[in-house]
Amino acid sequence: MRVVRTIADLRALLKPLREQGQRIGFVPTMGFLHEGHGALIRQSAARCDATVVSIFVNPNQFGPGEDLASYPRDLERDQSLCLETGASVLFLPEVAEIYPTGFQTHVEPGSLAEPLCGKFRPGHFRGVATVVAKLFNIVQPDLAFFGQKDYQQAVVIRRMVRDLNLPVDVVVVPTVREADGLALSSRNTYLDPAGRKRALALSEGLLAAREAFEGGERRTAKLIELAKAPLAKVDKVQYLELVDAQTLEPLKGVVNRTVALCVAAYVGDTRLIDNVILAPSPEEAGLNVSLSPQKS
Ligand code: AMP
Repeated sequence: MRVVRTIADLRALLKPLREQGQRIGFVPTMGFLHEGHGALIRQSAARCDATVVSIFVNPNQFGPGEDLASYPRDLERDQSLCLETGASVLFLPEVAEIYPTGFQTHVEPGSLAEPLCGKFRPGHFRGVATVVAKLFNIVQPDLAFFGQKDYQQAVVIRRMVRDLNLPVDVVVVPTVREADGLALSSRNTYLDPAGRKRALALSEGLLAAREAFEGGERRTAKLIELAKAPLAKVDKVQYLELVDAQTLEPLKGVVNRTVALCVAAYVGDTRLIDNVILAPSPEEAGLNVSLSPQKS
């Protein structure tokens, strides 16, 4: 595995691979890697000839009062995880490499960036979309891997790729959870043992709602009620919403299309997010798909 810190070195390294027709996979991260990142890297390594992992704590996606300065770092451990999971190149740019003096051009996402996290983190998705567009231009990957854990982020990036005709396929990888359900997150490291227990409320509620959905429950109010019940254990629920999985618009009444049930909550000062996707059968979703062979 090669470690590079400059855009020029990364381009020089990747150019011959691309010329040989190698398929390049890309996993952008902010470091303090865990098995959730590992799943993305493994999938890229399985599907591509070379996998680039970037670690860049992007200042432009943090708001005032957020955890930019304290964001956890452990480069040695990150390097081992990248090696173990099949990364070929680790890209570690400094902030000045990505944002040289005078930087002033941004990617502005549209309405998909407004609800859910967007409502509480103004400018966050603008920062994410801008850095991801820049990283795509730097790496020029064939495939890029994102986690379902940050569902709105994946939806915003997918839209950006279509809207700006970026030549990359976005792959969304299911959320990796601890055995008890807690979604892996770099920010879980902020939690003390008592906080870690209370943080389980997010996945407990979502997984209960998913189980009910799988058992046939389609009323949005009931699904939200089930997801809400354990959240009495957290300090503050920022949002708990059931939204159309594509448009992210809130859904009321009954679930008749694929939806995302999304939550953001605080345990102490730690902000955690999680979600589940609930997909009704094609018939219920009004897709009118015949699963039996057509008779002539
Ligand atoms: P981050 O380092 O938090 O910016 O995350 C980098 C990538 O890893 C993003 O695409 C995340 O959605 C993804 N990711 C983070 N946690 C998980 C998880 N538990 N399961 C799957 N993907 C994840």
